[in-house]
Amino acid sequence: MKGHVFVISAPSGTGKTTILGELMAQMSGVEFSVSHTTRQPRHNEKNGVDYHFVSVDQFRLMIDQGDFAEWAEVHGNYYGTSLSQIDKRISVGIDVILDIDVQGAEILRSAEELSASYIFIAPPSLAALESRLRGRKSEDEASMLKRLANGRKEMAFVNRYDYLVINDTLSQAVVMLKSIIYAQRAHANRGFDGTPIILEELT
Ligand code: ADP
Ligand code: 5GP
Repeated sequence: MKGHVFVISAPSGTGKTTILGELMAQMSGVEFSVSHTTRQPRHNEKNGVDYHFVSVDQFRLMIDQGDFAEWAEVHGNYYGTSLSQIDKRISVGIDVILDIDVQGAEILRSAEELSASYIFIAPPSLAALESRLRGRKSEDEASMLKRLANGRKEMAFVNRYDYLVINDTLSQAVVMLKSIIYAQRAHANRGFDGTPIILEELT
């Protein structure tokens, strides 16, 4: 059975990276698609693990070569998802999580050949978002204000998503996200992807 793609968006500072870290530690058969970006790495980020950190020239070359399923400029930097990374995993039955912004999600929705579930993670309030973003101490004031302003705009896209997870209590948000993935697996077991399961295989 093929793996499934989960597209996840959230305003910066919501806690998406934290939730996904917990989820990956608790679940098997699901992997994170490592995006390419032109932004500078944060002190705790590793090249090839959190992102593939590339120059603007390298990124443009990848666009020209058609390497990206989608790419977008977010908070002043380029980010893109490589097509081959997704195909390689879903073809061997691994579910793939794409952590992308609302513009990238719009592009993928219009790519009819990609079947995916769209999940929006929201903070419990804008005040909580600001306090988390400040608490992370990863941005200078200008970048933080840009992320907050973008976050407000991104919240307007929530109705475009299949699922909404509110990250109030971290553990509950992780359970909610895991439940969505398990539900999709149960759905696929019934053969909704066009490959009906023969009952004997289940016993
Ligand atoms: P994102 O990836 O969405 O930008 P992060 O995962 O980096 O956000 O989280 C932003 C900050 O909020 C981090 O300091 C993280 O520890 C904190 N955080 C994440 N989830 C919660 C939560 N449920 N309650 C309080 N703080 C949280
Ligand atoms: P950050 O700089 O905080 O890691 O990410 C900033 C934003 O870029 C987040 O909204 C994140 O979801 C988005 N992002 C990360 N990778 C990609 C990608 O490959 N494509 C798109 N469109 N957005 C991405």
